[in-house]
Amino acid sequence: MNNKYELIYEGKAKKVFSHDDADKVIIEFKDDATAFNALKKAKFKGKGKLNCLISAKIFELLLNNNIPCHFLELKNENTMIAQKIKVIPLEIVLRNTAYGSLCKQTTIESGTDLGKPLIDLYLKNDELNDPLITKDRIELMNILSTKDLNYILDLTLRINEILKGFFKNIQLKLIDFKLEFGYDFKNNILLGDEISPDNCRLWDLNQKNDTIVSLDKDIFRNDLGGLIEAYSEINRRINDFI
Ligand code: UDP
Repeated sequence: MNNKYELIYEGKAKKVFSHDDADKVIIEFKDDATAFNALKKAKFKGKGKLNCLISAKIFELLLNNNIPCHFLELKNENTMIAQKIKVIPLEIVLRNTAYGSLCKQTTIESGTDLGKPLIDLYLKNDELNDPLITKDRIELMNILSTKDLNYILDLTLRINEILKGFFKNIQLKLIDFKLEFGYDFKNNILLGDEISPDNCRLWDLNQKNDTIVSLDKDIFRNDLGGLIEAYSEINRRINDFI
């Protein structure tokens, strides 16, 4: 990145730089992958570019469906320009099918169709290991107003409907995903972060039997191999469809 831009923040998978306009940022997607609260780390050449391109397409789809998002435009293949937001320290996970931590923490069997979407809220705090949190605790911590939280939950349900339908069109089953929101300069709530196979579970529907084929970060979590091939396949299906 051109050094006239100041690095404002570096996360596990992205770097955020200043922009000439104070209300915008430049987000660079890295090739790094982490899992289990960064206990597991690796680099996949080309992952940053794929996640950036996939996220850009998904943000465009959501914007076209009147979901407020931070995304403005692609700057190049692994960098996007976005509205600057103050991130709300919550990870909003929506689940359509039981998998991952839900099945480790409950007696619900992996692969169970949940009937209606389940939203799990986590406190975004690495030191505390992103604990599951309740609405009452969020209120107690004054993280955001109940009105704003309800608005975010409503947006999350709407986003699920849009994404579920979209992914089905490209033969992918949306199992679950994680969202982050923030406030812009005018205090509007915008969807931030990224929407990519790093934070969505996507199963291939092009399978003859019921075999689960993950085309997402579970490939890295479970050492299945072929992560770049899987992410490229998702990018290809998105571009063939749009
Ligand atoms: N997720 C994420 N970041 C996190 C935790 C979860 O993007 O720090 C995503 C994950 O990729 C999956 C969904 O949220 O799509 C639900 O993850 P889960 O709670 O099952 O946790 P995991 O099994 O990944 O530990």
